[in-house]
Amino acid sequence: MPAIPPKRSKAAVRKRLLAIYDRLRIHFGHRDWWPGDTRLEICVGAVLTQNTAWKNVERAIANLKQAEALSVGRLLALPLDELAQLIRPAGYYNLKARRLRAVLEFLAANGGADFSRFADWSLEAFRGQLLAVYGVGPETADSILLYAFDRPTFVIDAYTRRIFARLGLSEPDASYENLQRLFMSALDTDAPLFNDYHAQIVALGHHICRPAPHCEACPLESLCEKRGVEITAASPGPTAKARRPRRRSRSARRPTS
Ligand code: SF4
Repeated sequence: MPAIPPKRSKAAVRKRLLAIYDRLRIHFGHRDWWPGDTRLEICVGAVLTQNTAWKNVERAIANLKQAEALSVGRLLALPLDELAQLIRPAGYYNLKARRLRAVLEFLAANGGADFSRFADWSLEAFRGQLLAVYGVGPETADSILLYAFDRPTFVIDAYTRRIFARLGLSEPDASYENLQRLFMSALDTDAPLFNDYHAQIVALGHHICRPAPHCEACPLESLCEKRGVEITAASPGPTAKARRPRRRSRSARRPTS
């Protein structure tokens, strides 16, 4: 399913994407993402945030800090069941402990604490290597690349899918790759822009463009086709009712503040 309706030129998409970003930026301010003190902490957060609310990830990371375990070497030295107990607040802790261990082994095999070694890797090679790690899918790989390593790749999540389908720029069931291409082919290759754009999308999806959207409070209201949003006759706009997205919402998976 193509992400860009065929009638729209790339220049028109670019103009619209930038207008959307400008409105969001004015509304929410710069989001200053991703919350995390170090590259490693961002990598850990990107794994732990799968299928859980960010506040749970914060509790898990706090446990790791309290145990003074937040380094590649110390995390790898922990027995798997101890690691699982420390990250228990993030849910699916046995599975996530194995996934986190796999990411840590990947980091350790490629420089350990010396993350600067990745600077020589091309984005494509780095992404390919990450995707080969157990438990790392496109969203996790792109989150690590963009937020931990400042690489210009656009992160797609369920918020992006829902919002841009409603805006009329993509289909609700667009693939990850097609939706990512929508942004990356139209916008300049600009890591700070990609960083804040995705963070703005998360803020909009979390606070306003929810499954039942608050269109009356939305900075994109005049730009939005509201595709798939059912406007009730009794109270148009503000009480717009929406079809639920087909995929399970990952709305609370990402940091929102
Ligand atoms: S106007 Fe409504 S449907 Fe469109 S992006 Fe805003 S909240 Fe979502």
